[in-house]
Amino acid sequence: MFTGGIQQNDLVTDATFASLGLSAPVLAVLSEIGFERPTPIQAGVVPIALAGRDVVGLAQTGSGKTAAFVLPMAERLYEGEGLRGLILCPTRELALQAEAFLQSFGTGDRKLRTACLIGGVKYPPQLEALRRGPDIIVATPGRLLDHVERRTARLDGIEMLVLDEADHMLDLGFLPQINRILDRLPQERQTMMFSATMPLSISRLAQLYMQDPETVDLRPDTRVADGIEQRLYLVEPDDKKKCLLALIDEEPGAVLVFVRRKLDADWACRQLELQGHPVEKIHGDRSQRERVQALSGLRQGEHRILVATDIAARGIDIPVIEHIINYDVPQTVEDYVHRAGRTARGAAGGTVSCIASWTDTEMIKQIEQGIGRRLPRCEVDGVPAYRERKKTIRGRERVRRRLR
Ligand code: AMP
Repeated sequence: MFTGGIQQNDLVTDATFASLGLSAPVLAVLSEIGFERPTPIQAGVVPIALAGRDVVGLAQTGSGKTAAFVLPMAERLYEGEGLRGLILCPTRELALQAEAFLQSFGTGDRKLRTACLIGGVKYPPQLEALRRGPDIIVATPGRLLDHVERRTARLDGIEMLVLDEADHMLDLGFLPQINRILDRLPQERQTMMFSATMPLSISRLAQLYMQDPETVDLRPDTRVADGIEQRLYLVEPDDKKKCLLALIDEEPGAVLVFVRRKLDADWACRQLELQGHPVEKIHGDRSQRERVQALSGLRQGEHRILVATDIAARGIDIPVIEHIINYDVPQTVEDYVHRAGRTARGAAGGTVSCIASWTDTEMIKQIEQGIGRRLPRCEVDGVPAYRERKKTIRGRERVRRRLR
């Protein structure tokens, strides 16, 4: 039995599966496996797919996208009408997961026969599954192409195609195989493509192989408001504290300092107090009353600085905050964006400064990719900047030689 994995309430929508247009037998299976309400990607994709339209779903692993494509297939394909569905996945694990979910429809008049064609396993059981006449093939591109070229699988009856985690398939170098498979499919078909990101290569794939697709975009928001000035201070690890103190002295106004752990918040607060700054802190070990006091104190100007951890700062909305200082680099792009959003509330502008050392290089790169821009490198008086070394071709060649 396929069991549900989404626990948190905020991951599902207020819609019901019935309101998406699913039929009673499919609804019965959903209730049996314990899916009570659709996730956002399911609520977005299912009605479009049931209407027979092409759809691009932009969502992460874990968003419930398997059901978003399996449900319309279970609804539109019937047992014994020949091979009409194809699901292409980048990995064996994803293929097996999609197949397992399809098999939950293995009772009553919704029984669908599947063949799972994945690499790294023996051919005979796959040939046997193909001989039994599947309604749907779930496959990784390489092995499917092998079967097609050996003429053990024919794709000329496919009416519904799913490209699952398309960006991941391209990252793994499957584009040539995908092109060869798609060129063999009937033109007249429905295509559903899922991807966590939308690089140019994915838009091109959609343009080439899909007809007027509707997009359901549930990517996490990685935009930083235009009114926020972003700065990066690259320093030696031992100079981070000096940089923080210099930044606080350099600019007037209310400051929110982000650190990673509760311990770091206690430490940073103490250091700032020792320098004579009026400062408060909020973190997971502080009582609700202490947090409320710390926040209202900042709002009313009783202290100028608030030190916070990410969790404690969720949803903080204090218009007076002019400067956010990331004393510790956030650990995800979403955290960076969320921290940045604590300033420039309403129409006001604001500044976000990131203090980072060479140990943070990889995370800075991810943040810059996520927000789609390079953070301007800045310096503060009295703190020497850490110089980034450009990767030269000769340097890369040296590394390559060492790895050989
Ligand atoms: P997926 O993103 O398709 O890999 O799904 C992630 C996990 O969420 C899987 O364990 C699913 O069983 C579960 N799941 C998907 N949709 C729902 C839903 N509507 N209600 C509860 N769990 C779900």
